[in-house]
Amino acid sequence: MTSTELATWAAALEERPPQEILALAAERFAPRLTFATGFGREGCALVDMVARFHLAVDLFTLDTGVLFPETYALWSRLERHYGLTIRAVRPRFTLAEADQVHRLWESDPDRCCELRKVTPLRAELSSFDAWVTAIRREQTPERAGARPVEWDAKFGLVKVNPLVRWTEADLDAYLTRHGVPVNPLHAQGYPSIGCQPCTTKVAAGEDPRAGRWRGREKTECGLHTRHAWAAAASPSPSSPPNPQEP
Ligand code: SF4
Repeated sequence: MTSTELATWAAALEERPPQEILALAAERFAPRLTFATGFGREGCALVDMVARFHLAVDLFTLDTGVLFPETYALWSRLERHYGLTIRAVRPRFTLAEADQVHRLWESDPDRCCELRKVTPLRAELSSFDAWVTAIRREQTPERAGARPVEWDAKFGLVKVNPLVRWTEADLDAYLTRHGVPVNPLHAQGYPSIGCQPCTTKVAAGEDPRAGRWRGREKTECGLHTRHAWAAAASPSPSSPPNPQEP
């Protein structure tokens, strides 16, 4: 798929509902389409869609080893509820790294995210042609430019973002209508949940992601950083050809 074809497809999908974007992506890329869920409310909605419409989408989660107990419980609950498997992808530290990672989130969270999330994700995505994410435009300024499908220059495959247009109200309505299991921590003041050491409650009126890496400038773990948006730059004529590019 050329950059022009991808941009044309993104424009055609802009007004389509998430279920349709997901189904069309599955039709196009299966079995080399995967969804890396972090078990946020958006991710749970997408897992529901995959199960509800029997879509051929591989499912996995990045298990950093320091998720909340409630998140591990939700993982099991979703698998039981929908009768599917959500694979665990875990970091494989070198001996030198294993020494460094103990409480690395305190001294160098960017490095910690790189070792626990970005590196394992990059390795895992190398087996796929496209990946689904649960990002919504209104979540952060970095995500405001996301398109329904775009070239992910950071990881070298197509990125499918079915929920980009959804508002918080759209998400609430879907979860309620379909009785989707979600993390009980959301009801206890955690609208956005990541690793336990880097997630705090947010107060009423705070940004929903204010509890992530509180007190630091860091707002993203590096999976969805701005330079990963690249519909316009998707694979450019000067880029080396990607053997897995559809
Ligand atoms: S969110 Fe925190 S604990 Fe998790 S990988 Fe990033 S820095 Fe490490």
